[in-house]
Amino acid sequence: MATASETLSAAIQKYEVVIGLEVHVQLLTVTKAFCGCSTKFGAPPNTNVCPVCLGLPGALPVLNKRAVEFATLAAMALNCQIRETSIFARKNYFYPDLPKGYQISQYDKPIAEHGHIDIKVNSASKRIGITRLHMEEDAGKSLHDGFPDSDKYTYIDLNRSGVPLVEIVSEPDMRTSDEAHEYLTRLKEIILYTGVSDCNMEEGSLRCDANISVRPRGQKEFGTKAEVKNVNSFRFIKQALEYEIERQVELIESGGRVAQETRLYNSNEGKTYSMRSKEQAHDYRYFPEPDLLPLVVDAEWQAEIKKTMPELPEARRARLVADYGITEQDAGVLTATRSRADQFEEAAKHSKNPKRVANLVQGELMGRLKANGLDMEQSPISMKGVAMSADLVESNAISGKMLKDLYDLAFERGEDFPAIYEKEKPQQITDTSAIEKIIDDVIAANPNQLAQYRGGKKTVAAFFVGQVMKASKGQASPAVVNELLTKKLDG
Ligand code: ADP
Ligand code: ZN
Ligand code: MG
Repeated sequence: MATASETLSAAIQKYEVVIGLEVHVQLLTVTKAFCGCSTKFGAPPNTNVCPVCLGLPGALPVLNKRAVEFATLAAMALNCQIRETSIFARKNYFYPDLPKGYQISQYDKPIAEHGHIDIKVNSASKRIGITRLHMEEDAGKSLHDGFPDSDKYTYIDLNRSGVPLVEIVSEPDMRTSDEAHEYLTRLKEIILYTGVSDCNMEEGSLRCDANISVRPRGQKEFGTKAEVKNVNSFRFIKQALEYEIERQVELIESGGRVAQETRLYNSNEGKTYSMRSKEQAHDYRYFPEPDLLPLVVDAEWQAEIKKTMPELPEARRARLVADYGITEQDAGVLTATRSRADQFEEAAKHSKNPKRVANLVQGELMGRLKANGLDMEQSPISMKGVAMSADLVESNAISGKMLKDLYDLAFERGEDFPAIYEKEKPQQITDTSAIEKIIDDVIAANPNQLAQYRGGKKTVAAFFVGQVMKASKGQASPAVVNELLTKKLDG
């Protein structure tokens, strides 16, 4: 007899999953969206506040120009169409962390629409539509734990109130949790490249709500969706979606119906729980914000903003492949962040063999980083260090084995490669008679190559250099080897 989980996974095959994501991204402006308060994270509670972001009566909002530029840049990077005139709206709801009783957002005329992100899952490419990108302000933060009287009281920190955000709403185009994960990865990467947000999920500068439904394969209408809110890592979002797929299929298969509701994910249990049903859903009573003029980003301003667009990850990957002859996979790893890509290019420019640099990064460096639980950004060996090591191997000044040993030392001591190399570099043999002896042996052992060289194939010299360096265990001075060898070969 089939087990329950076998029956469930068979049932899941009969359904198609539909996922749409709503992502909030905090913009890296110095001041808030509608006042001059600092946006700095981690300040003592309620110190970055003023009458505007406290929602005191009579205070008027003034739009932060930089926030508009950042939102527009993000929208352009996501292939959106910019709306020349967009409208701010009040989204009304009552909640303790929302002092005005409404959030300034955008509703039917958002700043940008009709974008997309191209993703790749299992080497299949797919375009995920972006319905809209709109600007809004953040609410404050309720602090439920951590105080001696937390069992009785909830505290409110309004430092975050009024911090500028963009909300990026996808089309319901994703069909698996992997696609959702990939979409988020690409989205974060693009936003990070533009520099408009640090996308730090722990600090809440990137937040995602996941909408998910299932429908019998072949059915045209979408099923009823559940919305899973505030999951704080991409891995958890994937897990929450996988849990939801099972829950919804099981429910339908047993004759039930999926309720339209908001759910919360408990990562300890790996389960989602109902938070509020559709009946309890807010009616936001949107209306145009009377205290703000329509926002106009005309063609001229758009062109100014566009000028600040950096090369985006996808384009950069393609260019690295073309410029440095590295594989797409290498390029993928090396462009995961803009600073990493910058570092690699800096190193590659100074190295005789960018491909070797890429290989070392992927192999020797990433392997050790992983083993030590470090991010690329925390690597003791810089990209310049990698470039130097690559060139030393390239010129046979050190062997591959030595490189590995030097990398181990660099990680052990937390020092960069050049410093380690200076201290540990193999003693060089500069004694010409010792080197001459090695050269004579190598030439004697390779008569065919010698004949080729003397027949005019000068590139064979590199072969001899390699053999001599190898015979000297990498300890012969390359300069002396080159000089003596040329003399001997030209005989
Ligand atoms: P709501 O009116 O509940 O806010 P929207 O139509 O504005 O819903 O969509 C919100 C998000 O939910 C979007 O990202 C959208 O792609 C996604 N979505 C809409 N319908 C479904 C569905 N049936 N299944 C999964 N996701 C959906
Ligand atoms: Zn303020
Ligand atoms: Mg909606």
